[in-house]
Amino acid sequence: MNTAGSSESAKGVGPSVVGRLVRDRSVRLAAGLAVAIAIPVAVLFYFQFRSISDLSKSSTVVLKQLSRETAEGLMRSVQDALKQPYITTLLRTTQQQTEPLNLTVIAPTFDLGLEQQPFVDRFYVWSDVGPTHRNEVLAYDRVSHGFRGDVSEGELLVTRFHELSKQKRAITMFEATIDGRRTYFQAQIRFMTPAREQMSSFVALRVDAERLRREYFPKFLADKLKDVEGPIGFPPLLVTLIDGDKRVISSGGKPASSHFENERTFPLVFFDPELISFAAPEGHPPEQWRIQTGYGEQTIPQIIAARERPQHAMMAMLAGAMALGIFFFARTTARELRVAELKSNFVSSVSHDLKTPLALIQLFAETLELGRLKNTERANEYYRIINGEARKLTRLINNLLDFSKIEAGLRRYKLEPVNLAAMTRGVLESLQSQFQHNQFTVTTKLDEHVTASIDPEAAVQALENLLSNAMKYSPEHREIVVEVDRTDGYGVVRVRDRGIGIPPRFRRKIFNKFFRVQHDGGSGPHGTGLGLAIVEHVMRGHDGFVRVESEPGRGSTFTLHFRLFAGESHGDETDTGDRGRTADVARTA
Ligand code: ADP
Repeated sequence: MNTAGSSESAKGVGPSVVGRLVRDRSVRLAAGLAVAIAIPVAVLFYFQFRSISDLSKSSTVVLKQLSRETAEGLMRSVQDALKQPYITTLLRTTQQQTEPLNLTVIAPTFDLGLEQQPFVDRFYVWSDVGPTHRNEVLAYDRVSHGFRGDVSEGELLVTRFHELSKQKRAITMFEATIDGRRTYFQAQIRFMTPAREQMSSFVALRVDAERLRREYFPKFLADKLKDVEGPIGFPPLLVTLIDGDKRVISSGGKPASSHFENERTFPLVFFDPELISFAAPEGHPPEQWRIQTGYGEQTIPQIIAARERPQHAMMAMLAGAMALGIFFFARTTARELRVAELKSNFVSSVSHDLKTPLALIQLFAETLELGRLKNTERANEYYRIINGEARKLTRLINNLLDFSKIEAGLRRYKLEPVNLAAMTRGVLESLQSQFQHNQFTVTTKLDEHVTASIDPEAAVQALENLLSNAMKYSPEHREIVVEVDRTDGYGVVRVRDRGIGIPPRFRRKIFNKFFRVQHDGGSGPHGTGLGLAIVEHVMRGHDGFVRVESEPGRGSTFTLHFRLFAGESHGDETDTGDRGRTADVARTA
């Protein structure tokens, strides 16, 4: 009748972890749900990742383009600005106006030139033709606002332009130091004849090299850059202007960018550079200036990488959080589904555990009632069976009632000093008919002097649950050892069986409500999965604990640790353990 008799092997817990997981419906369902979330999320992440990389590519293009176009545009603007005085003043002052000199016509052109070209300090006009100011250099500047002769640098100008005119070029330039300042001079030379043998007049301009570098160009570049707008969220575009001596003109003397993306070179001439071949150089080619554009310390790939980094980090964090969420979701779902499954198993187990003893009680009671039994020994055995089955029913109902109390948080324990050996003996006696009936050998080793603080009813129930499990899960070697002693300062009751044992991975779980080790094909003893959950609750209620040691196929040992009663003499604790122990008692069926 008792399921303890069923043949169950210790390794009957499934072929492999993976195999079991795949068979587990709740795990499959949870995995399906997790995949249903994981795949769309992964697709979303993929597109997000793609859009970041697309954005990076287009940002790279924009940054490169901005740098290239700015360098190109600035170079053109600088060249346009530099050639303005040549176009608007030197060319506009025609040979008719200078030969002979017509100062009233020239004056407004010079005025306009000074107004529009701030880097020009002075205009000059010289003519070898005409009645007035012949062979005299006349200067026109912002201070005089009119022509004046007696120009200190006049002789230099006439001498040098005469020399340069021998090259027969109309555009002529040279550099000189005037009053200790580096100065550029450029002239438009007119010749007597088309053969250009003799210079007849010139119109010239003067530029202070230092003022050009210190004042004009920095302001010019600042004005131009005001309109340059880079993409939002990226470092601004920086521009460096470098003169022919490699001196940095803009950005306070040092290059704005340690890496430049683009560079444009242009000659420092105050006319259209395309005309350079028509100009009379001073013997060496004009200074080559450079415009560089860049984004500071970083190259474009570095900027893009730095911008991508937080986005990637964010995505990684999100992906991690998602994965964690999916993991917990799947775990919780699997757990919930398993609990639901366990609960449904529980209901069928309870029905079974109620029906079996009732059927037996009914059967034996009816037999006794009919009075057919002549043999009193037989009758006594039937009474014992009825009694044992009734106890089983009581234990089951107690477990159910206690469990609902525990769940509702209503289970209270009333502790009192109890002799553990006496309590254990009582429990063993009450179960004796079951031991006998199931042919179990129970060996005891009880230290009579251990008194613990115990709620007797709850402790009896815990011990009964352990003994009932020892019977249920010992199909072959029907031997149970029960010990009472003192270990590590606790009063201890130990139940040792030689049954199927518990695989290590379940040793914690068996104390969870409804949890039952699944056996192959659902064979094995019936149960509600509440017994050990109640044992653990009872032990916690006693400020003690329950320990399990087990070896699959060889048996299990459950040990209840109770707090010793505070009034116990200390001497007992140091007892060797032999004193007061009963001799080993063998109760055999
Ligand atoms: P039930 O016995 O009703 O299934 P329990 O909570 O008492 O529930 O036990 C939980 C599970 O622990 C059992 O299903 C069984 O697999 C395992 N178990 C408990 N005691 C033993 C034991 N002495 N030997 C082997 N397995 C045990």
